[in-house]
Amino acid sequence: MRRGVVVLCIVLVSLVSFRHNESKETNDRSQPVIILKPIVFDSTRKRLSLEYLLHHYGITRSEPTIQPRMIVIHHTAIDNLDSSFNQMNTSVLPSIRKDIQKGGALDVSAHFLVDRNGTIYQLLPENMLARHTIGLNPIAIGIENVGGHHLPLTNAQVKANAVLVRYLKKKYPAIEYLIGHKEYGGFRSSALWMEKDPDYFTEKNDPAGNFMSLLRSRIKDLHLKNKPW
Ligand SMILES: [Zn+2]
Repeated sequence: MRRGVVVLCIVLVSLVSFRHNESKETNDRSQPVIILKPIVFDSTRKRLSLEYLLHHYGITRSEPTIQPRMIVIHHTAIDNLDSSFNQMNTSVLPSIRKDIQKGGALDVSAHFLVDRNGTIYQLLPENMLARHTIGLNPIAIGIENVGGHHLPLTNAQVKANAVLVRYLKKKYPAIEYLIGHKEYGGFRSSALWMEKDPDYFTEKNDPAGNFMSLLRSRIKDLHLKNKPW
């Protein structure tokens, strides 16, 4: 008798869990609300972006465009939206970023910035170069999230990232890969890696915690890869 009750409970829990996942997926398929909040894209950023493409990847273009095949998820390691935005809103890399100064004067940026409540801001057109992931920028759309190790990313951000990734995959069917920034080293010896300087590489640990596994669990059906093969 007791065994029967246990089995019934397991069945009920499974059903509830299935329904929960089902509603999660349905919600994630909604069109994302994207608020345009462009960072400065002046003649200086354009010139530095073109220089970056040439020096790091040997690419010569009249416009600093990219061809999205990958999405890279980041955290800003900054507590609030305004400071996170301001850090990317200059064309020239601040002198404080000594860790990547040898990589050039173009400021770091990303295409999207997701606030802690899940609000999505677009900072750059998706097909413009953003300096956010060494070696992969010519194919990578960057999504930054406000927060970090000291201020863990939120469930609202997980959901917003899932909706955004789903939207981007639909818009750019060529996107095959989804990685956390901390996973980018896995592409270093692949044909996708375009950096010309073999020593230009920095260890990354974003996004913090289990953010990537939570995100991936919501978009399994997209079959996005986190490795080059
Ligand atoms: Zn990052």
